[in-house]
Amino acid sequence: MNAFPFTQKAYSCLQLFQKRHLFYVLLLLPATVTLLQGCKNMLDFSPYEIRVVDGDKNTTLKNLIDVENSILNPDSITIALTADPHYNYNNLQKVVSSINSNYQIDFAMCLGDISESGIQTEFELFHAEMDKLVVPYLTAIGNHDYRSNGEDIYYQMFGQLNYSFKAGFLRIIVFDDIFWESNKNPDFDWLESELKQYEGELLAVASHIPPDTDQFDSVSREQYYKLMEKYQVKYSFHGHQHSFNLKEKDGTLYVNTGAIMKGKYTLITIYKNSETKIKEITV
Ligand SMILES: [Zn+2]
Repeated sequence: MNAFPFTQKAYSCLQLFQKRHLFYVLLLLPATVTLLQGCKNMLDFSPYEIRVVDGDKNTTLKNLIDVENSILNPDSITIALTADPHYNYNNLQKVVSSINSNYQIDFAMCLGDISESGIQTEFELFHAEMDKLVVPYLTAIGNHDYRSNGEDIYYQMFGQLNYSFKAGFLRIIVFDDIFWESNKNPDFDWLESELKQYEGELLAVASHIPPDTDQFDSVSREQYYKLMEKYQVKYSFHGHQHSFNLKEKDGTLYVNTGAIMKGKYTLITIYKNSETKIKEITV
């Protein structure tokens, strides 16, 4: 006679439950795996994710090597000056095709707002499209690129936010001049040290925000204008305004390019004697 009938019955029930449980676990396993994969895919779209693949890193450095190797001793330099694709990948594609069909262009620049919200997917879409260019391209950071973790993604994908390079007889100093979204003042000391170092060369400064607009207060604006005048900077290239504009001040030509998102960019040809031809292109 079983002295523990209740215990034995309970044990049998437990065994039955475990078998059924195992059956349900096995039944639900594929669904659980699919669900977890789905969660992982959802996490891929986190606005705070930073996972730039190796092939997309150090883009500025790679393109600078191309500029150095391809622009040796030219009589003129032609730049496709672009900015502000934001989220319009259709027009970005058209601008890339337009640049590729013009064999006079030596290199392209995209002066910021290469993303709308600073999320990695936007940077990747931009990078994939710009990869199709047959000429090298350089970028400046825009105010929209600072959103979310955009600054870190930009740094990983492109490199330094302030840098300068030589394209034939032209020295271009790329300057991060975002005040509001970066929560810091642009590094004017760095800008002046670069200008001092390359004083006497044909100089251009390229940045997202033109000095005569919103983010510059009157003190910073004067500071910028004085630096341009003091070091006889010939060109000051900008985006952000989404419209083409030319202005001359104290010997510096301020060129604001129209926005890629509106199907616009600017062609600039600079000759050795610093004669300049500028034309807005619509795609
Ligand atoms: Zn902007």
